[in-house]
Amino acid sequence: MSKKLGKSSYTFYDENMSLNLYEETIKKKEIKEGIKQKEFKVYYQPKYSNDGQLTGAEALARWVKGDNTVILPSEFIEFAEKNGLIVAITDLILEEVCTDILSWIEKGESDFIISINITSQHITNRKLIRTLMEKIESFHVPAEYLEFEITESMVIEDFNKAVENIVLLKSYGIRVSMDDFGTGYSSLNYLKSLPIDIIKIDKSFIDSVSYNEKDKVLLENIIHLAHGFQLKVIAEGIENEDQLKILKEMQCDMFQGYHFGRPVNKGDFERMFLENKE
Ligand code: C2E
Ligand code: MG
Ligand code: MG
Ligand code: MG
Repeated sequence: MSKKLGKSSYTFYDENMSLNLYEETIKKKEIKEGIKQKEFKVYYQPKYSNDGQLTGAEALARWVKGDNTVILPSEFIEFAEKNGLIVAITDLILEEVCTDILSWIEKGESDFIISINITSQHITNRKLIRTLMEKIESFHVPAEYLEFEITESMVIEDFNKAVENIVLLKSYGIRVSMDDFGTGYSSLNYLKSLPIDIIKIDKSFIDSVSYNEKDKVLLENIIHLAHGFQLKVIAEGIENEDQLKILKEMQCDMFQGYHFGRPVNKGDFERMFLENKE
């Protein structure tokens, strides 16, 4: 009884909560099969510099099923993390990204960066980090073309190990960014003590920047502080001209959001990419 009451008092929604054991087993099996069939594909969302250049993209996973339905990460990433399947999915994403980077280099592109979302399992495990690096090396992709996105909550799990592994990544030449910046609880401290290169300001701040004066002040100072620590700043979730104008005035270095483009498949991104560079 008390257990039931406790459960119903949760205020957050967890997509996995509604699955019973049977459904979980089915989903696990489906994802495993999807991994085998390489149904996890990369969609690219472009990133732009302050002066309007396309500088690269974030690689975002999509599960494209046999019948071509496209399943969003909210339907499988958290589940895959909990069920030991995220490492295999990340491997697929990284392989695809490496293949695509090579093909763009072959087409004459240079000076672009593709970012990949890694997980707490990676950032706290030296062996997994090395495995990712070995994969990149096996493709002969120069590390400077890649960035790994991590989040504050991943780092909290084991701060010392995370720092060690970020240092390791950096020794290989991989850039590291702090995703969803500002949603954790002691963000400012991380600016000082983590050897990261970029912070990605969470969309929730961007949403309110055009009407909330306090958020504006906060953002202005975060950007200033980040620059003081030699970090670059990217604003995530830019949806309109108004937000862009404000963030540009604040000297934000880069932008990503629906205002510039949604995540698209390789072909569509490539067209956008090759056109912008001409
Ligand atoms: P994220 O890493 O913070 O990625 C940004 C998310 O915000 C993406 O959602 C993107 O489509 C969305 N977004 C970007 N600009 C806008 C905008 O202007 N408006 C709105 N409303 N949304 C915008 P997506 O692709 O659904 O991914 C959600 C999350 O799933 C990601 O958040 C990331 O945490 C996770 N994820 C996606 N792909 C992977 C992956 O390959 N590996 C891992 N570990 N996680 C992934
Ligand atoms: Mg991300
Ligand atoms: Mg984010
Ligand atoms: Mg996010």
